[in-house]
Amino acid sequence: MRRPIMAGNWKMNNTVSESVELVKGLIEKAEGTERDFVVCPPYTALYTVSELIKGTEIKLGAQNIHFKEKGAYTGEVSPLMLKELNVEYVIIGHSERRQYFGETDETVNKKIKTAFEYDMKPIVCVGESLAQREGGIAEPIVKGQLVNGLKNIDSKDAERVVIAYEPIWAIGTGRTATSEQANDMIKFIRSVLAGIFGKEAADTVRIQYGGSVKPGNVKEIMAQSDIDGALVGGASLKVDDFAQIMNY
Ligand code: 13P
Repeated sequence: MRRPIMAGNWKMNNTVSESVELVKGLIEKAEGTERDFVVCPPYTALYTVSELIKGTEIKLGAQNIHFKEKGAYTGEVSPLMLKELNVEYVIIGHSERRQYFGETDETVNKKIKTAFEYDMKPIVCVGESLAQREGGIAEPIVKGQLVNGLKNIDSKDAERVVIAYEPIWAIGTGRTATSEQANDMIKFIRSVLAGIFGKEAADTVRIQYGGSVKPGNVKEIMAQSDIDGALVGGASLKVDDFAQIMNY
């Protein structure tokens, strides 16, 4: 059985004090869980949140990583810096980073390898645009992101990989993929992973759905056969909403 993983991607939201308030509220709602609950604050709040969640059920994720350990890369944050804050997960290749910050399958691949080197688990985001879906090429697009992003990743590392399927047209739009659409694509993703890692290893990979996940639709999404978790943006910014999502 794959352990469900519910992750909140705060994106560029929450000052340190706002982060403290949010995470304190979540800690008590997470007690005694058998799921993985992850929060991904902005870099400025990682240290504070890391201190607050010690010994609790909340795990820490970062929203990006650089593939070099240190050096002249102004504005970037290295794996070494994240590791010291007990960051356990790192979101890699989010569509917003691909769209606005020049992330490519090649940099995604380097970053995944770096995450493993520093013993962090990548949450690798894939997903098609509306035009690609309407043009009937959603599957080949997602397949390309997986094949290129996961190039030369050893199948023994598969169980540390989390994939987040986030159709771009469903992010922040209020327009969710139907649970069948999400489940069909996630099944397809697992078949692609079987081609990359072999079936046994592919069956250990957790695959999340992301895109307008809310308290009101999470149950139906999580009831699908192949969906192992959710990557949540907007609804992860309020204690009550994310607590309901975590404990769907
Ligand atoms: P929303 O939940 O706001 O649609 O964002 C999804 C997302 O991009 C999570 O990474």
